[in-house]
Amino acid sequence: MRRPFPKDEPKRLQMSASFVPPKAAKNYGIWIDGAWVSGEGQEIRATNPANGQAVSVLHEATEADVDLACKSARAAFELGWGTSTGERRAEVLLRAAAGIRANAEELAWYEMAESGKPHKQARAEIERSAMLWDYAATQARSLTGESFAGLGEDYLAMTLRVPIGVAAIITPWNFPFLIISQKLPFALAAGCAVVVKPSEMTSATTLLLGPLLKEAGLPDGVCNIVTGSGRVTGEAMLRHPLTRMISFTGSTSVGKHAMKVGAEQLKKVSLELGGKNAHIVMDDADLDAALDAALHGAFLNAGQSCNQGARLLLQKGIAEEFAGRFIEAARSIPVGDTLRDDILMGPMINEAQYRKVLGYIETGKSEGARLALGGTYREENGGRYIDPTIFTDVSRHMRIAQEEIFGPVCAILTFETLEEAFEIANSTGYGLSAGIWTGNTSAALKAARRLEAGTVWVNTYLDGPAELPFGGVGASGIGREVGRIGCEEFMDVKTVQFRSGGYQPRWIGKAI
Ligand code: NDP
Repeated sequence: MRRPFPKDEPKRLQMSASFVPPKAAKNYGIWIDGAWVSGEGQEIRATNPANGQAVSVLHEATEADVDLACKSARAAFELGWGTSTGERRAEVLLRAAAGIRANAEELAWYEMAESGKPHKQARAEIERSAMLWDYAATQARSLTGESFAGLGEDYLAMTLRVPIGVAAIITPWNFPFLIISQKLPFALAAGCAVVVKPSEMTSATTLLLGPLLKEAGLPDGVCNIVTGSGRVTGEAMLRHPLTRMISFTGSTSVGKHAMKVGAEQLKKVSLELGGKNAHIVMDDADLDAALDAALHGAFLNAGQSCNQGARLLLQKGIAEEFAGRFIEAARSIPVGDTLRDDILMGPMINEAQYRKVLGYIETGKSEGARLALGGTYREENGGRYIDPTIFTDVSRHMRIAQEEIFGPVCAILTFETLEEAFEIANSTGYGLSAGIWTGNTSAALKAARRLEAGTVWVNTYLDGPAELPFGGVGASGIGREVGRIGCEEFMDVKTVQFRSGGYQPRWIGKAI
């Protein structure tokens, strides 16, 4: 009898057990040319959204600092990173992944402390990030082009993938380490040098990558990390003539701005922006599985997620029962102190986001939707918490069904036919992701084609293996990251044509 093949053991974090959370805020410089230098701009304090305590003290990179970072990146690119072997780049990336795992406790602590996410979730995100670095190493060794052998005798052509040069990478605060890991290892695998700017609220884990990458063998100058506001530091990166590509994750409004600025110098622009994702549950779905996924989709990271299943679309036959179960389960989601292991939802990132979400809850009520759960909020020890909030009786044109709220607010809509579900799902202008739960293969295939989104999940939600590209359509962005395509995004295609004889004069000609 054949023995069952053993299931893959998930990789375990090798925790740096020695990490002790610091008592005082950590002071950082900016990371240029493989060393810490002091930023010339104003001091910025990043605080813990759960208690208001300072976690990191940063120094804003001015236009002059960004200039230095870009020049350092360009020099490192030209000095050899851009033409280094895939083998060498892969080695660096694999050592970086190991370094991330070895420092996972420290990274997870800072990720939790600055973004306000539960500690357990932060740890899981660090491990997922390490896997992205592992995967990018495989891409560094598999970059290929095409060959064209059918163009005629004595004539051969090929396409080469060549790194774009210096890429400017700008990231937000909601999944700081995961999002930088969706971009940076792929840029490095491609042979690009980079200037990176994390959100000023959550810069610590990205800054920690500087020395970690140096230790992994990354040559000085290939990865420069500057901190500061988007207005000063980010803007200087967008405009610098040496950054040939802009890779941006954040709001749709700043994304549009980045594209306009990039257009002035015809830079390549890749944008991962917001979403208002539809999560559809059909009558014939596995309702227990769909329930768990709908809760995860709506309330992970306190709803501060571009992939949030912010609109739950329920087919009429199961709508009442499913909504009831969803509301009851959401009622018991533990909200609070992010260090507690059972906590699933932490605080809002800052006061502006807190006020914005509360404003949308008022909008929902005034639009006539029924507040079926939550709407409640509290300020406690410096943290600003909003409980899981669910609206029913929502119609598709309401603002709470159209606009990205970026908080723990879910709008339930109902539909009768699949066609109607597609119409509602595709009605916002966003197109990041969508999900459908159904036992019907034909409905699933139709949904995969008809839902206007960069990712369609069928009978699952929020999966994201490193092999699969991620990005949006419409107001959710342009370009893809992660996977083979995510690596190619940082590359140009060069066409090379060889003639080994048989050239026919066609211009001045034989007459001369
Ligand atoms: P932003 O788009 O403002 O910020 C994202 C990044 O861009 C940050 O590093 C920010 O810097 C930087 N930035 C801001 N302005 C500029 C500029 N003019 N030039 C260059 N870089 C700039 O998003 P927010 O963090 O303010 O969040 C606002 C909204 O964006 C949220 O409510 C949500 O709707 C959406 N969002 C979407 C995310 C997603 O993953 N799709 C993630 C986060 C937000 P800094 O913040 O340091 O000033």
